[in-house]
Amino acid sequence: MTFSEYIGGVNYFYTDYKCNGCGICEKICLSGKIKMDGEKPVWIKDIFCYMCYVCINFCPQNLVQINDIPFVKSYTEENERYSCPYATSKDIEKQKFKGEF
Ligand code: SF4
Ligand code: SF4
Repeated sequence: MTFSEYIGGVNYFYTDYKCNGCGICEKICLSGKIKMDGEKPVWIKDIFCYMCYVCINFCPQNLVQINDIPFVKSYTEENERYSCPYATSKDIEKQKFKGEF
């Protein structure tokens, strides 16, 4: 069992009704775990999550949240995000596909 599975990573993330369906989280998810289902991102159960937190920190609307897990409260709805000031979602997207072509 992976760490992300152990802590409930299958349902670790969610986005709320304010999500505008821009699809950036899908494009920058390094593991391919995020797929757009119409206008909303879905974290696919059977795809391994790297726990890189790129989806959380680079959603332009700050709408990706972490679910509470047993005995641990998530505060992502209240807290700010910590994206790298020198990297953009475009940089990450390009890096993701590096070497595949
Ligand atoms: S990046 Fe944010 S706003 Fe865009 S689809 Fe993903 S969760 Fe929604
Ligand atoms: S933490 Fe990283 S690998 Fe996991 S869903 Fe978010 S972007 Fe994808």
